[in-house]
Amino acid sequence: MAWYRKLHWQILVGLLIGLGIAIVMRSMALVAPPTGGTPADIVAQAHQYALGVVTLDIWRQPFAFVGDLFLRLLKLIVLPLIVVSLISGIQQIGDASRLGRIGSRTIAYYLGTTLAAVIIGLLVVNIVQPGMGMGLVVEGEAALRPTPMLEVFRDIIPTNVFSALANGQMLPTIFASVFFGLALLLTGDAGKPVVAVIDSMNAAIFKMVDWVMATAPIGVGALLVATLADPSLADLSVFFVSLGSYCASVLVGLSIHGAIVLPLALWAFARRSPLEYVRALSPALLTAFSTASSSATYPVTRDCVVDGAGVSRESADFVLPLGATINMDGTALYEAVAAVFIANAIGFDLTMADQIVIVLTATLAAIGAAGVPSAGLVTMIIVLEAVGLPAGGYVLVIAVDRILDMCRTTINVWGDAVGAAVVDRWSAAE
Ligand code: ASP
Repeated sequence: MAWYRKLHWQILVGLLIGLGIAIVMRSMALVAPPTGGTPADIVAQAHQYALGVVTLDIWRQPFAFVGDLFLRLLKLIVLPLIVVSLISGIQQIGDASRLGRIGSRTIAYYLGTTLAAVIIGLLVVNIVQPGMGMGLVVEGEAALRPTPMLEVFRDIIPTNVFSALANGQMLPTIFASVFFGLALLLTGDAGKPVVAVIDSMNAAIFKMVDWVMATAPIGVGALLVATLADPSLADLSVFFVSLGSYCASVLVGLSIHGAIVLPLALWAFARRSPLEYVRALSPALLTAFSTASSSATYPVTRDCVVDGAGVSRESADFVLPLGATINMDGTALYEAVAAVFIANAIGFDLTMADQIVIVLTATLAAIGAAGVPSAGLVTMIIVLEAVGLPAGGYVLVIAVDRILDMCRTTINVWGDAVGAAVVDRWSAAE
């Protein structure tokens, strides 16, 4: 097949065109903020600047609209796909004790790699020490409030499955699907008609996924323009100047985890070539990058893992929904780096014990974070409070959050996919 017919190349081209359009739009519309001069000069410059911001916002609207259509299509299929693929995945595993073994391996693998990610983040940030000597002051309480961890765990059991579905709550939906799927499995013959219905729903939803994926090159390109041309996105110079070493620490940590640790795990435990796996997964990784949402990316991830990389359906259908919800290596790493950066920036001394608390809370906070944009920024407050840092500290990193979110979400999805291949191999070897 010619390269330009392959989806991952089409998506990459879509992203590059999006990047080009965003850069051109920003440079045409935005002028420098007022720099000084007479009061009349300042007023004139401020006027020009405000005009540029408004213009840019108008130009990005059509792209935001198209990007939203793509996101809505993805979100439309996520929950039904999770429900039917989990229920039918459980029927394929076919025995409750095997399901228990696959489940415990999945959780062990996910916890292990998330812990590894946090430790890498802490090592990098302790070497780079971003924010040192900034002497910033954080005032006031956090406007954002994360849900307490105990509540997150309690709410895994929904009291009303329809409201969990209607409100797009992933973990409760997963719990209810596993519960029901297990019951169907153990019901035997009486459950067969329902299993047949679920299987045919499964087939129809996969068709929908294929159609939505065909629109991904335009969807991800439009989303990238909408994000990068958003006037509220910090001027990219912020990225490189005051928050540069912080961003670099996050990006270096993510790169070590994504390009060394996870490929090693894939090679050692799943006996797969990391390069081939990355190629198969690239549509999902690029979609994760542009949507900053592992939940919305789930249909694409599942398609790439099963159809592209040939992981068995029984493993993928069980491991991936859990991964998209609880396994967030990139988020955990980011939260650890951000907490140390905030401590440095306000001159707060972190002891060794504090760093251990960061390891534990960042792991938990990443599990508790939903797979939606900025979720990690909110649950990071749990980490800040656990070591006695001001909750409002998150405002120091908010300006560059979206860009880092796109990168950490890509690693989150990559971690989920590697997990599916590893657990698949472990289960096949039984
Ligand atoms: N956006 C991330 C995800 O969906 C979560 C986060 O904010 O870190 O995986």
